[in-house]
Amino acid sequence: MSSVVTAYVALGANLGDTQATLHAVISELARLPKSQLIAQSSLYSSPPFGPNADGPDYINAVVAIETRLLPHELLDQLQAMEHAHGRERHYQNAPRTLDLDIVLYGDKQVRDERLTIPHPRMHERAFVLLPLTEIKPDLMWHNEQGQLQVLQKLLPSVAGQQITQQTAV
Ligand code: AMP
Repeated sequence: MSSVVTAYVALGANLGDTQATLHAVISELARLPKSQLIAQSSLYSSPPFGPNADGPDYINAVVAIETRLLPHELLDQLQAMEHAHGRERHYQNAPRTLDLDIVLYGDKQVRDERLTIPHPRMHERAFVLLPLTEIKPDLMWHNEQGQLQVLQKLLPSVAGQQITQQTAV
């Protein structure tokens, strides 16, 4: 049997009733097979980020789960949730009703055509780092180059990004 791993999943939405979507998805994440939801951040709002990014502000959150799902099994589950919530990908960074990313899966490195873990852009996104700080302030991981990343040390580099913490969920 596979061992239990703590995984962090980032949630984002900027179309439709974003808050309702994120609340529903957090409940769905709590019911994932072979998994247990152990922490959830508040909701955060921020303007679209990255090349071609447009549309309404995003609502984001991060959850921690303990899971026996393998990384690709977890991705399958998350993609099924995205599709169930009507996600369509028109172009990179296009507005979306739901985006689910595996940010970390224990301290495991994954790199193939479907998955890159740790998520390659997590360290530059306030909407990932601030929710992570809320649920695991002492979080550390190794990046692709094998360098130790300390969450608290990354925060100053995203301090200029516009982001607002909303209600606790
Ligand atoms: P995006 O449209 O930016 O959400 O990218 C979706 C694609 O990213 C999917 O085809 C996934 O297979 C791929 N992907 C790569 N790494 C990850 C990850 N850590 N979490 C979720 N999706 C990922």
